Amino acid sequence: MTQSFNGRVAVVTGGASGIGRSCAQRLAADGAKVVVLDRNGAGAQHAAAEIGCTWLQVDISSQAECASAAAHIERTVGSPSLLVNAAGILQPELPPPQELSMDDFGRMADVNLKGTYTMCAIFGAAMAQRGAGAIVNIASISGMRSTPLHAYGPLKAALISMTENLAAAWGRQGVRVNAVSPGAVMTPAMQAAIAGGQRNLDTLRATTATGRIVTMQDVAATVAFLLSDEAIAITGVNLPIDAGWLVASSWAMFGGLPPLQSDQVT
Ligand code: NAD
Repeated sequence: MTQSFNGRVAVVTGGASGIGRSCAQRLAADGAKVVVLDRNGAGAQHAAAEIGCTWLQVDISSQAECASAAAHIERTVGSPSLLVNAAGILQPELPPPQELSMDDFGRMADVNLKGTYTMCAIFGAAMAQRGAGAIVNIASISGMRSTPLHAYGPLKAALISMTENLAAAWGRQGVRVNAVSPGAVMTPAMQAAIAGGQRNLDTLRATTATGRIVTMQDVAATVAFLLSDEAIAITGVNLPIDAGWLVASSWAMFGGLPPLQSDQVT
């Protein structure tokens, strides 16, 4: 199903790459006027040229940069009523807890949690003042279950909590705030990790109920739905997009899931 956003202004953070870029592409295809924000200016410019939208170089960990981006968009594009917070730093290393760098933890917190909060606070408050808007935050299944991602996981759990708080705070003013929690997504970075031998496609597939790996388009379609008026009665939820990873993970104690058939989809 495609949604029609009819020229509504949509801001997508992290739109230069991966999931954010795919969301920007989907929202533009569905009729939104998209603005891509990313700290990678060249990447944002390239993505925007491909999508046919506008872009701004913004580091979301800077409150001043977020505020000046909001003022610039308001002046030059219009009033945003849609926001997707996809900018984030992944945690590639899996050190034991005592060896986790507090500097890395802090950098991740500044972007994944505080930066996302800043974007919500600035853009969401303006939407609340105007009486309409919808926000989707990209969380993760690692915020819902234990993983060895000792910084990334707890920060995503906090993002889910933040989403619930903001949904309650702005519900009366017509602003909906939801989160999605993707499982492992087949982004260019994931493809490179598989190609380089750091991740294994069969292992990834074996951990999901459906044997499928989530695509960027799967995430974008769900985000578009949650932003649309079709989801008018949905706020404060955290929707997993995990091909059944969450439901499959507890089957290990019973010997695991039935084996994948060779003709099953990826
Ligand atoms: P990605 O690295 O491909 O894209 C992230 C984008 O965010 C990049 O363009 C990067 O430049 C931008 N960014 C990083 N820090 C920024 C900052 N301070 N200010 C502005 N932009 C910044 O990553 P992705 O895999 O597409 O991940 C996107 C989101 O989805 C992240 O929040 C990530 O945690 C989440 N997620 C990813 C997966 C996955 O499997 N890839 C799974 C679950 C959740």
